[in-house]
Amino acid sequence: MTGTQRAVFLDRDGTINVEKNYLHKIEDFEFISGAPEAISSLKDAGFLVIVVSNQSGIARGYFDEREVEALHSHIQAKLADYGTSIDAFYFCPHHPEHGVGDDKFACECRKGAPGMLLQAAREYDIDLGQSFMVGDKIADIEAGHRAGCQSLLVLTGYGQKCAAEQSMASVVKCADLCSAAAWIRALVTKS
Ligand SMILES: [Zn+2]
Repeated sequence: MTGTQRAVFLDRDGTINVEKNYLHKIEDFEFISGAPEAISSLKDAGFLVIVVSNQSGIARGYFDEREVEALHSHIQAKLADYGTSIDAFYFCPHHPEHGVGDDKFACECRKGAPGMLLQAAREYDIDLGQSFMVGDKIADIEAGHRAGCQSLLVLTGYGQKCAAEQSMASVVKCADLCSAAAWIRALVTKS
């Protein structure tokens, strides 16, 4: 499966916006400094920018899918102030152990699994081998690798903790999304 488009997949909480436990209220949303500009610069470089987010707060009953979608609409409205937007949002509502009903199962979409990236690749004709995954957790790094993307760890959110605890010598580490976007653009310009 080789698509015609390149994408940068972005984790949401701790990567685009300041990590707050189970963020779901619009008034609690806060961009990490430079994130809107980073998104804009990646789109200018020709990438699709696609958010892939684990939202097990749904399985746990903390909030529902409509609240997640309302928050994503809010993010789009905020990005419009910067003349940019996210091309698509995917989120996994599931959790393998917590929660009740249909959302409690070991799905293929919860990162470290690559399901959301693979679905996006089908729906947007993406060449995963020419694409990137940026996030602050080992699950982001694994999801990207398993999808065939290059993964970058940002040191915002849980990134510092993750870099200290996990052996990730081979993973590119960037201070924040802004610096990850600059790294990706420099690589693309070279090739
Ligand atoms: Zn899932």
